[in-house]
Amino acid sequence: MSEIRRKIGEVREMIDIHCHILPGVDDGAQTMEDSIIMAEEALDQGIDTIIATPHHLNGKYENPRLSILHKVLELNEALQQAGIEVTILPGQEIRINGDMITGLEQEEILPLNVDSTYVFVELPSDQVPQYTKQMLFDIQRAGYKPIIVHPERNKKLIEDPDLLYHFVKGGAYTQVTAGSVAGKFGKNIQKFTHQLIQANQAHLIASDAHNTAGRSFFMKEAHQEIRKKYGSSSNYYFMENAYYVTQGEVLAAEPPERIKQKKFLGLF
Ligand code: FE
Repeated sequence: MSEIRRKIGEVREMIDIHCHILPGVDDGAQTMEDSIIMAEEALDQGIDTIIATPHHLNGKYENPRLSILHKVLELNEALQQAGIEVTILPGQEIRINGDMITGLEQEEILPLNVDSTYVFVELPSDQVPQYTKQMLFDIQRAGYKPIIVHPERNKKLIEDPDLLYHFVKGGAYTQVTAGSVAGKFGKNIQKFTHQLIQANQAHLIASDAHNTAGRSFFMKEAHQEIRKKYGSSSNYYFMENAYYVTQGEVLAAEPPERIKQKKFLGLF
């Protein structure tokens, strides 16, 4: 934590709040060597702090709080030994489920950077469960702040963007993927991503990197795109919000607007 030596207004290095860099815990880095290669790529991208967010309860992987904390220590030690100046902070990508409040109470769920009170909520890729709105409300009532990860890649939200509008209006934040901003997931997802940004429905940009090949960081590319489209104040908006997440401070956010187009027919 003391290694975060950044002042707002003087942001030089980026923070990546969503990354599968922990070795051997999910479909991200498989070995410590993979993790180190990812950290080197992050540095090249201008990233000096990464929140490691392994999948939790997504049907394939379970990574409860304590095991993540332990692995983050190991990775930081290895990076230090390798002389790579990237700091790893603990986090978790939690697939939405009916037991999230119990998970928080029993300290199985790990908020970003442990005590920020920001909690990642991942929806299934092709649907939005009926109880989502209630769960986002319950998370907030329990004293936490939900961040919906990569809504731009959810099939149901693309078909019915009003759903996300109501979640954001209800106090949820969202994180779009750098690769989506930069067009790495195709034109349609890129278009929806920018509609979310323009409608004040995107508060954070993160890599969700799994490796240094197809699912790499693309943060530099995303920020180039943001600067080109919206000017550098938008770069700072997203970079500062990432910093606020690590510090548990309130994110900058404008009131969300509805996306004007009614339907996204023929996308899939
Ligand atoms: Fe992820």
